[in-house]
Amino acid sequence: MAEEEESPQERRERWMEREARKADERRPKKAKCASCGKDVEEGEFIEFEGRILCADCYADALEKDMDMGAAEGAGAG
Ligand SMILES: [Zn+2]
Repeated sequence: MAEEEESPQERRERWMEREARKADERRPKKAKCASCGKDVEEGEFIEFEGRILCADCYADALEKDMDMGAAEGAGAG
């Protein structure tokens, strides 16, 4: 009793593996900073509040967030 054919499960696993590889290829390796427009490569940008930011602009955004918090506490504009 030889089973030469793939079982449905094996076929599914193969298909999922292939799809995962395709998705990986489709993932952008490069992006553009939404704030300063600089071209950034994978690993050099961060998604912040739904926007792509370079490391500099991300630090800026974090600082502004903190400033806003501080201003709120001081009650001055
Ligand atoms: Zn930037």
